[in-house]
Amino acid sequence: IRILAIESSCDETSASICENGKILSNYIAGQAVHEKYGGVVPELASRAHMQNIIPVVHAALETAGTELHAIDAIAFTQAPGLIGSLLVGAQFAKSLALALDKPLIAVHHMQAHVLANLIEDPKPEFPFLCLTVSGGHTQIVLAHSPLHLEVLGETIDDAAGEAFDKTAKLLGLPYPGGPLVDKYAQQGDAKAFTFAEPQIPDLNFSFSGLKTSVLYFLQAQTKANPQFVQENLVNLCASVQHTIINILMKKVKKAVQQTGIRRVCIAGGVSANSGLRSRLQQMGQEQGWKTFIPSFQYCTDNAGMIAITAYHQYLGGKFTTLDAGPSARSEW
Ligand code: ATP
Ligand code: MG
Ligand code: FE
Repeated sequence: IRILAIESSCDETSASICENGKILSNYIAGQAVHEKYGGVVPELASRAHMQNIIPVVHAALETAGTELHAIDAIAFTQAPGLIGSLLVGAQFAKSLALALDKPLIAVHHMQAHVLANLIEDPKPEFPFLCLTVSGGHTQIVLAHSPLHLEVLGETIDDAAGEAFDKTAKLLGLPYPGGPLVDKYAQQGDAKAFTFAEPQIPDLNFSFSGLKTSVLYFLQAQTKANPQFVQENLVNLCASVQHTIINILMKKVKKAVQQTGIRRVCIAGGVSANSGLRSRLQQMGQEQGWKTFIPSFQYCTDNAGMIAITAYHQYLGGKFTTLDAGPSARSEW
């Protein structure tokens, strides 16, 4: 079974070819156009998807050494995301399915982030827990099977990725700041500054308070020393990152205690964070968990994760009709 999958939910245009669950290609085109605006501009994202989608699909086919006629099904990201961005991928996939007379598979982006853990060996056995941390979501998911995922907890305000990007902005770093905070944090002292951690019940998260406490802290410090941020950048990055990771891992530990499941994965763009990756591994060793971390190309938005999810939907007979439309909302 050979599947062509397309991802266009935000500002990455991506295409992937998957053959019987093995990813043959995963081509990702980013969009530099948003950098000068300090965030993704939806209108510009849609236009860039329009420009990128055909070259990206061609590149994915070429790398996989295959062609359109040899594809058995077309998959696309249906939700959630920016509606104008989703429309481009959905419309392209539907047109292709119609022209080639092949089945169409609609994939949920957040399910795909979790199932990115099924791409490479060693793969987690079911059931497993997944901490999904991305630009728009922070969730603890219980994966019963590839097609049966249950959200046990999630953020009540900002996502973990937003916490990184918004504090990065306060530190004067360009968008998206997450990867830069990661980079500077590696040279800094994580214990240099402490920021309050929220007390949220259950397995839910909150990050808006952290952003505010960083803001007030920086305002007070720069009043006394206008160069405070520049002089303490690496320590500030390390301390903020440390706080975010503490908030995340506390809930992961709680989820393991509540469910008794000791296979723990991470997923989503923030799972590319080197501090989070090493903390998960370290905690896994301490606590006797089996931990799973996707390689970088499968953490941030990519069509490989859409393809692997589509493969499981194909096996489960979960197809969609040509009248399927995208949705910005994230209900499963
Ligand atoms: P969603 O999947 O919730 O719809 P999204 O697709 O925009 O949102 P992703 O592409 O999965 O999100 O992740 C992007 C986020 O990951 C951004 O907030 C970015 O700053 C963050 N990120 C990427 N790399 C790192 C890193 N190394 N450290 C911290 N954050 C990172
Ligand atoms: Mg992105
Ligand atoms: Fe994403």
